[in-house]
Amino acid sequence: MFCLSYLVSCLKRNSMHSFTEENYLKAIYKLEEKTGGRVNNTDLAKALAIHSATVTDMLKKMSERKWILYEKSKGFKLTGKGRKSAVGIIRRHRLWEVFLVSKLEFGWDEVHEIAEQLEHVQSEDLINRLDSFLGYPKADPHGDPIPDENGEFMKSEAVLLSKLKAGSKARFAGITDHSTAFLSYLDKIGLALGDTIKIGSIEEFDQSYILQLKSKKEIIVSSRVTNGILVVINY
Ligand SMILES: [Zn+2]
Repeated sequence: MFCLSYLVSCLKRNSMHSFTEENYLKAIYKLEEKTGGRVNNTDLAKALAIHSATVTDMLKKMSERKWILYEKSKGFKLTGKGRKSAVGIIRRHRLWEVFLVSKLEFGWDEVHEIAEQLEHVQSEDLINRLDSFLGYPKADPHGDPIPDENGEFMKSEAVLLSKLKAGSKARFAGITDHSTAFLSYLDKIGLALGDTIKIGSIEEFDQSYILQLKSKKEIIVSSRVTNGILVVINY
């Protein structure tokens, strides 16, 4: 089991890079994923909910430290070094979420904020032991893939539930809406990750879906819900 004093000693050694830098790295990585290319200051400032002048100062520092490649008119992108750090933070975040849900029995709607704190413990030894302790999980409690020790992600074949036609069957594999409100709503209507979902019919008027759950229960969900859920068809 984990020893608290070990965790504390890891936190004390936490001096490689600051929490703020790590949050920037993670935000840039996520924006790059979304846009598929370079990121600009305005989008990053918006993602971090801070003033763009603050962002510009930090980006200069990060470019000096070779985390990012910064060209004034073109925007910026992560260097190989920056990407490796960002993926490492995502790995730590998602493994901690698995730990919190599977070992400490937190709800999947309760773990994100705690993992935001735990992800900053930088000991690789701790994280590799945590990974092994959890049995090398491939996805976090929200279905997001966990990169392995080498930073490799499992390729996802998930599609939006809203892309499926009436009569098809799929497995609930992930979410695109990570808000607590959405997760609690899914709990309320009885939808959990891993569930088999059959699409009974689709209402033409507003694209709401009638879903048949494993429990034989039928539920009606709005297009906002079907656009927030990822499913795997051939499983
Ligand atoms: Zn999270």
